[in-house]
Amino acid sequence: MFDLAHQRLEKVFQFISVDEEVVQRLSFPKRAIVANIPVRMDNGELRVFTGYRVQYDDTRGPTKGGIRFHPDVCMDEVTSLSFWMTVKCAVAGLPFGGAKGGVTVDAKSFSKLELERLSRGYIRAFADVLGQDRDIPAPDMYTNEIIMGWMADEYSVMNRRQEPGIITGKPMHLGGSKGRQSATGRGALMVLNEYARRRGLEPSSMTVAVQGFGNAGYHFARLAKQQGYRVVAVSDSQGAIYSSGGLNVEDVHKFKNQEKRLASVYCDGSVCNMLESEVLSNEQLLELDVDVLVMAAMENQITIENADRVKAKVVLEIANGPVALDADVILEENNVVVIPDVLANSGGVVVSYFEWVQNRAGLYWELDEVNQKLQNIMSKEANLVYDIALQYECSLRTAAYIHGIDRLAGAIDQRGNRKYFSGL
Ligand code: NAD
Repeated sequence: MFDLAHQRLEKVFQFISVDEEVVQRLSFPKRAIVANIPVRMDNGELRVFTGYRVQYDDTRGPTKGGIRFHPDVCMDEVTSLSFWMTVKCAVAGLPFGGAKGGVTVDAKSFSKLELERLSRGYIRAFADVLGQDRDIPAPDMYTNEIIMGWMADEYSVMNRRQEPGIITGKPMHLGGSKGRQSATGRGALMVLNEYARRRGLEPSSMTVAVQGFGNAGYHFARLAKQQGYRVVAVSDSQGAIYSSGGLNVEDVHKFKNQEKRLASVYCDGSVCNMLESEVLSNEQLLELDVDVLVMAAMENQITIENADRVKAKVVLEIANGPVALDADVILEENNVVVIPDVLANSGGVVVSYFEWVQNRAGLYWELDEVNQKLQNIMSKEANLVYDIALQYECSLRTAAYIHGIDRLAGAIDQRGNRKYFSGL
């Protein structure tokens, strides 16, 4: 995975020249730590789990990045994700570097008390390198706001003071920000709106299919429908539904929540009639002839195997890495525009930044203020990326990387470079 991250960097260096010292700095993580975390299980047994924290680069500010609990977590994955967080924070213009953390564990098999012990254990293991001015974690796969609350609490117990800015994605009553839940989907829609506006496209004339009807995909679909887009298909891990006239996103969400799966939306007779939707496989959803295909499930969904069958005009990446590197080339050849993850899904980290600012100020904003500030950042950065793509005649992905790496390179340079120190 880390080789892939390097390949993205090398592509950028074909377009912009940066000092060799910057290349060196960005080729390696600043700090990578492993800790073994002992957890007392409910049956009295002691088990030890391996945890990681990688702080990739902190030139632009304290590092920021989620913690995931998953059996596949390893140093290579955490390092790659910390690199992507570094780029994402720079693309969004946030005063943060990038980090990531994780524990190799099947957390789904844990009781709530075991999960709490593991979460608190993670903080005890890494507390020396965390802090609101050093490194600020957040939720990721199989971690959530409750876990962030336990972690923030453990940190305050250890340090004998309240420091809510240590972690973002906390529950609302423990210093969370309004608007965080919907921020990723909302931010992605803002980025798409700018794209459509620049091309003179009207939302009401655009059809959208959404892979992944979870937190990010649902909020995206809900807001997109409100703004006039026709959301014709959505999917979850068990299958997809399609209606050429457009789905009623709120109804779909309501029935999915009742039954916990999209199948319930079309299996229940009366709802079936109301939605007039038909069942598709996950593969079929990816191949629909729509204007926008929104990838909001997981990584590596469009690969060399199916890229040629993608008919959408635009692929919007809300998940991290849903288009494989070699599939990217095929989409580009087929004139499918990919709006890349480091731009499209940055709404989440932007509102995490707002949470950190509010925690530090002790002053909390209303939802309208959060959403307006999010709009300002997403529109501005999306337009900068779209301008760069025109200037360099490159893909939006390369443009986003150019944008982020240029800011990082500027920061690294301004701390002093070879020219400065040799008086040239
Ligand atoms: P989630 O777990 O709430 O939702 C994921 C959804 O994808 C679920 O509905 C699941 O059933 C579905 N899914 C899984 N495999 C699928 C498949 N093969 N086909 C169709 N659907 C499938 O997760 P989320 O928070 O919505 O995040 C989605 C993606 O966006 C993840 O890759 C995440 O890393 C990324 N992301 C999320 C945020 C955020 O703030 N939530 C921020 C940045 C990036």
